[in-house]
Amino acid sequence: RHYLERIARLDPALNSFITVAAESALATAERADQTLRSGEAGPLTGIPIAHKDIFCTQGLKTSCGSRMLDGFVAPYDATIVERLAAAGAVVLGKTNMDEFAMGSSNETSWYGPVRNPWDAARVPGGSSGGSAAAVAARLCAAATASDTGGSIRQPAALCGVTGIKPTYGRCSRWGMIAFASSLDQAGVMARSAADAAFILDEMAGFDERDSTSADVPVPDYVDALDDDLHGLRIGLPKEYFGAGLDARIGDAVMAAIKEYEALGAEIVEISLPNSPLSVPVYYVVAPAECSSNLARFDGVRYGHRCDNPKDLQDLYERSRAEGFGPEVQRRIMIGTYVLSAGYYDAYYLKAQKIRQLIADDFKRAFEQVDVIMGPTSPTTAFQLGSKMDDPVSMYLNDIYTIATNLAGLPGMSIPVEPVDGLPVGLQIIGNYFQEARLLNVAHRYQ
Ligand code: GLN
Repeated sequence: RHYLERIARLDPALNSFITVAAESALATAERADQTLRSGEAGPLTGIPIAHKDIFCTQGLKTSCGSRMLDGFVAPYDATIVERLAAAGAVVLGKTNMDEFAMGSSNETSWYGPVRNPWDAARVPGGSSGGSAAAVAARLCAAATASDTGGSIRQPAALCGVTGIKPTYGRCSRWGMIAFASSLDQAGVMARSAADAAFILDEMAGFDERDSTSADVPVPDYVDALDDDLHGLRIGLPKEYFGAGLDARIGDAVMAAIKEYEALGAEIVEISLPNSPLSVPVYYVVAPAECSSNLARFDGVRYGHRCDNPKDLQDLYERSRAEGFGPEVQRRIMIGTYVLSAGYYDAYYLKAQKIRQLIADDFKRAFEQVDVIMGPTSPTTAFQLGSKMDDPVSMYLNDIYTIATNLAGLPGMSIPVEPVDGLPVGLQIIGNYFQEARLLNVAHRYQ
């Protein structure tokens, strides 16, 4: 009731929820109350959370921020939705997001932009802007999110919350609407690493319904939170502190890293020489995969269908032209182009090769260090509307986050000292399946 009251009072100005499920939330909470009284609580019994609107929820609209799915109600729950419900969580509703998770500002949503709770004239980041703003404004205790190129970490940074993108394959993608399947990963945003650990403990783990799900045992993330950091080797990639980074963000991030030295960690300068190529590589690979994934929205099986189609071709064309917004259409066009005969070798194949080089950079780095640290985003939250007609400048927001998705590594963002009253994120990147270490490192700072 506390959270529902806050949503009713504060969300009209923020727009962080697409759907509020007040009735079912109260009914689940009622059951949670009875479970607690009977002494049989699960790990998350009664904890009020929200789901990004990319996760299918049975009986509750799943729009993915798109007009295409405005009327879509999934007949099943995504695996992570199912697991969190089984652990006892109460779902308050579904959070706003960039359309099909394409964006860095939450401005491509069919449901309108989300506003940053720290300054309503600014963006919350994206694509999980609704989840980040909702956690920051205390409209839920935690929220699920997804990260294809930075969509958990960048909005977490811009809204001053903690977000973790686990290793590729760590959390099931089953029931999570696909954007770029080789990069997409589910994760969580919360007020702290400790809260995130409680949620991730329930979300993570093998799922036979997702063919890329990792069959690797899940350690107890909560147990590891207080581990000692003496001897921890922190790598600082010189490429993450160069031109393009707001100097005051660099200072705030370095001040946090100094605190790690005080906790016994050792700083090592490293290099990720191919990292400047990560944004261009991503904008070949991600659109290529999205052009394929989004082919299913054809106006026939489900989703938006145009009125009075003349014939099948007209049905396809108008349903897709009406259902998809401009950014999604741009990605489909780029993806179709880079995959077309004659361009495949020049763009797609070359991007795949560079993707491997980027992963190899990290492999070498993790021979020297335990975690890598740097800024999450080159700037603090920017003004709404300021980058919408300049896609390349929008894409550069993810300059520090995209490489980890290309490599499949886990990464997180935690709030450090603000700059001009706006939140700043410290990014912590770990080796494969080192989520426990990341959460531990984050928790010791917090
Ligand atoms: N901003 C990036 C994009 O628009 C990443 C989005 C994401 O991680 N889902 O593709």
